Amino acid sequence: MASPLLINVAELLRRAGSVREVDRRIDVDAFNFDDPRMVANSQVEIGLTLEALTDGIVVHGRLCADWVSECRRCLRQLSGRSETEVQELYQAVVIDPDAYPIVGEQLDLLEMVRENLLLAVPVAPLCTVDCPGLCSQCGADLQTTKCGCSNKIADERWAALDLLKIDESRPTTE
Ligand SMILES: [Zn+2]
Ligand SMILES: [Zn+2]
Repeated sequence: MASPLLINVAELLRRAGSVREVDRRIDVDAFNFDDPRMVANSQVEIGLTLEALTDGIVVHGRLCADWVSECRRCLRQLSGRSETEVQELYQAVVIDPDAYPIVGEQLDLLEMVRENLLLAVPVAPLCTVDCPGLCSQCGADLQTTKCGCSNKIADERWAALDLLKIDESRPTTE
């Protein structure tokens, strides 16, 4: 299937300094993210400026996409919208190792947008910065429940640390 973000840049390539705007809303399915964080049936928002240089086209602007995830401590469902600024280079003869190719006076924004959005959506978010998470003993959500095992766990942790200290202070025999 042809990329929905294939842009003809013949005009741009003719004159360094010329500019073209690309503002689109593309269905998330077009990107084949294969990533559970990307929201099915949502729209990816693309607001990019293409600017012709002597040795390529610089693409800069803003990308937005919806995401879903869960708090890494308490597993609460979280969702949001990520916004990211991008600046990427396209070249007909790829010299810059980070540049994307211009093929037959066309450039494809799809892979570039895809890669940048995957970096923009959170990997392991928290519901709140100080989320206490789940009790490791009984599984209670410590944000809403006082389960009573927390003290015991803390005591066990201190006891384990005390044991370590004893080991360290022990003289080595070899
Ligand atoms: Zn949480
Ligand atoms: Zn507990």
